[in-house]
Amino acid sequence: MGKKDTYAIRSSRLCDTAYEVSKLDEDLNLQETYLVSEIGGQGSGSLVCTCFAGAKNCRHQKMLRKFQAEDRIDSGWRYSFDKDKWFPPINVEAVD
Ligand SMILES: [Zn+2]
Repeated sequence: MGKKDTYAIRSSRLCDTAYEVSKLDEDLNLQETYLVSEIGGQGSGSLVCTCFAGAKNCRHQKMLRKFQAEDRIDSGWRYSFDKDKWFPPINVEAVD
């Protein structure tokens, strides 16, 4: 738990401007999923998150911007927020 956690982001099937931020432990078990949404449309600059800190600028919102900047949403890439490090997709990871 903690320092070895990584995050993956994929587009929500519910909404064009929402993203599912999945928190994974070092064995890639899903810990939690947060929904980060663009407020006022794509590119408006405002985000909201379902985590307890979501009204402020939480780490999930910052991560979404990093994934967008690197074009790694829905790619299987994982990101360690604590280490600021990327991990490439693993083939055995199921993508539905
Ligand atoms: Zn959050």
